Amino acid sequence: MASFGHVAVGLLTGRLHGGSDRSERRTRWATLALFTILSTLPDIDILLVAFGASENGPFGHRGALHSLTMALAAGVFCAVAARWWRWPVLRTALAGVAAVASHTLLDLLDAGGKSLALFWPLSSARYHSPWRLLPDAPRGFKLLSSSGLLECLTEFALFLPITIYALWPQIRARYARLRPPHLQVIDGASTTEGVSNGSPNSARRDPPIRSSG
Ligand SMILES: [Zn+2]
Repeated sequence: MASFGHVAVGLLTGRLHGGSDRSERRTRWATLALFTILSTLPDIDILLVAFGASENGPFGHRGALHSLTMALAAGVFCAVAARWWRWPVLRTALAGVAAVASHTLLDLLDAGGKSLALFWPLSSARYHSPWRLLPDAPRGFKLLSSSGLLECLTEFALFLPITIYALWPQIRARYARLRPPHLQVIDGASTTEGVSNGSPNSARRDPPIRSSG
């Protein structure tokens, strides 16, 4: 995958987790970023290969870092971090497992790419789903080809609704800040609500002063 899907599911996990206080109107960016990093983390094995790891060894692409063991390890890490940050431990551990396991699941469903070492280190056998439902953009310069860009666009469109749902509180807050102040018509004059001293009535114009002579 070109990672739009992994990012979308990471953001969704962050929103569902909610951070330290779920009663807040919107999840903090740091919480969203944490689970997005976890949901994309397994692909760090591409860097390991670039730095010399064997492509077909346990630390090659879609090897150990794409296994379910990695998802469990992420859950343990999140539980320890939750104690430190005073977050709900069980909820954070489950969200950590879900973020990393979602990466494995999406890669299993994509249309191409290598099979995954799901049960490493118990088994080095690699698996792929019989259902290849998701687009698989090529890596490297092939990504810039017309077919590569089309795969990217398809994946982006598929996961856009999840991304919008995950970021909806942030989008709504940004829209509210950009919206111009509400205009109100008082005594035939258009004025901005509460501009003078915070009260709509304060915007009412004073009557004209008449001369007695
Ligand atoms: Zn992957």
